[in-house]
Amino acid sequence: MKLQDTLPKAMARRRIWAAPVLWGEKCGRSADAWVYTSGVWNVKTGVLASMLVRLSVALGMIGGALLAQQADLVVHRGKIVTVDKGFRIVEAMAVRGGRILAVGSRAEVERLAGPRTERVDLAGKTVLPGLIDSHVHAGAAAMYEWERPVPDMETVADVLKYIRGRAAAAKPGEWITLSQVFITRLKDQRFPTRAELDAAAPRNPVSFATGPDASVNSMALKLSGIDRNFRITDGQPGRIERDVKGEPTGILRSCSRLIKITTSGRRPTPEDKRRQIKALFADYNSAGITSISERDLNDDWVTVYRGMKDELTCRVYITYSLDAQAPMDKITARIQAAARDPLRRYDSMLWLRGVKVYADGGMLTGSAYMLQPWGVSQVYSITDPSYRGMRFIEPDKLYQILKTAIQHDLQPTAHSVGDGAVTEMVDAYERVNRELPVRAARPSISHSNFMTADAIRRIKEMGVVLDLQPVWLWLDGATLRKQFGDARLTYFQPYRSLFDAGVMAGGGSDHMQKIGSLRSINPYNPWLGMWTTLTRQSRWTDQPMHPEQRITRQEAVKLYTINNAYLTFTEQEKGSLEKGKLADFIVLDRDVLTCPVEQVKDIQVEQTYLGGKRVYQRR
Ligand SMILES: [Zn+2]
Repeated sequence: MKLQDTLPKAMARRRIWAAPVLWGEKCGRSADAWVYTSGVWNVKTGVLASMLVRLSVALGMIGGALLAQQADLVVHRGKIVTVDKGFRIVEAMAVRGGRILAVGSRAEVERLAGPRTERVDLAGKTVLPGLIDSHVHAGAAAMYEWERPVPDMETVADVLKYIRGRAAAAKPGEWITLSQVFITRLKDQRFPTRAELDAAAPRNPVSFATGPDASVNSMALKLSGIDRNFRITDGQPGRIERDVKGEPTGILRSCSRLIKITTSGRRPTPEDKRRQIKALFADYNSAGITSISERDLNDDWVTVYRGMKDELTCRVYITYSLDAQAPMDKITARIQAAARDPLRRYDSMLWLRGVKVYADGGMLTGSAYMLQPWGVSQVYSITDPSYRGMRFIEPDKLYQILKTAIQHDLQPTAHSVGDGAVTEMVDAYERVNRELPVRAARPSISHSNFMTADAIRRIKEMGVVLDLQPVWLWLDGATLRKQFGDARLTYFQPYRSLFDAGVMAGGGSDHMQKIGSLRSINPYNPWLGMWTTLTRQSRWTDQPMHPEQRITRQEAVKLYTINNAYLTFTEQEKGSLEKGKLADFIVLDRDVLTCPVEQVKDIQVEQTYLGGKRVYQRR
């Protein structure tokens, strides 16, 4: 565009040049209107003066607008999957000031480029919005190996070898702890026994914790005061498994609080935590992740994040931790504290917006709360045929917690794995909904692994949102099938039913340990997650689980983009590549929409941009 084309018509006719007015030099065809006084050029007449002022303002605005429109970055010659309403695919995108200036054809976008614009030729590569993981415990995960690496363990023998190694280096009586090595993911599919742990570490107390449950050795039981006469009297959930003679077997369910672990190790400093988080976020970026939801964050970690906001390379949505076992007045006080926190105000990098409790145990450990009994099981060490799992919150208290959160404009969620827990959450939301509409709060259910057709219908009706973990189907499907049979898995992670019903569901990992998208527990590789929703294939079997629940490529992408943005109240800000949104995007080595389905899990991210800045480049 020529500058003169933008001049007001009267100005253009008079051919008054813009440059001298803007730059204060004597030049132009209307010089007769100017006088030179005290080294400053002034205009002769009031008419001209006022015209000049208007001209200056007009040109200032035009100049400013032109500069503002000039892109910092243009990516072009790509297959840019916008994930907008029409799932439009375009070839170019312009970015300025961290946001998307335009998406469209190369010609449309090229108009916004100027001399200072950086251009990236995508050479036909596919671009997606930056991915969002709606369920991580990044703080805890980042610290898991900060002192020493923990090897991958596939068998009970691996576990015992690791414990023997630790025992050899530990002083007698020093605790040896190992957590979240899920037994259902060990080839043996069982806990290490009390006797095995005794043999591996005869002079040390040992705690092998998996989810809410643990297996401990004799010294650990003794130091914790748990013997045949011990009863749980603190009013909190828990179950101590016993043998036929009434002796504790060492299996403690949902009562790891009773294990009196003392640590002599070094405590991480805030600097250690910052360093570890930065390393983890760099790895998230390499997998294509640019936003996460911290799904149960304590005060300590809120403080860490608060202090490093400007260094983050992932946007963090915080779900603040609540202890549902505390008295209701304490829970209310904590909800009020969250509502008052300065981080409650929207900031695209760090936003505290929700609260979380735990409604039941886990499916990996045999303690998810089910509508029907689990069934006797060696794998899960279940001997009681009527056992349905662990429910942690009475319905009335659950209702009160959810309602209080919504009253304080915080999004509530609860860890709810079994269909019993999911149903209780739906019941509780319905009860709240009768008094105050819950839809605007985007009430959430976390995990929601086992569902029913009725729960799905009611979830849709109220506008409840779900964060699910596709990779669990891959990792744990075969074990679950052995335990429950096919019929009880009809609504296990029922993605097709959820999309068909119009339920808003997002994909997450529940990442809680280690850095590395595939070696972590749980693996946070979103491509493995998408592939699982496309194939419903579990490892250790060649039979897909309820293939009628498969979804399309576009839907799989939505799980990790726009749907997760909706889950976190940011669908106007991210989750798709549209004008005005944050310029978070990733460049892929192959096309997620058209590559052979087997390859979806192998997709590599070549570049990751956060707010228009490259935060990852594949080497
Ligand atoms: Zn979690």
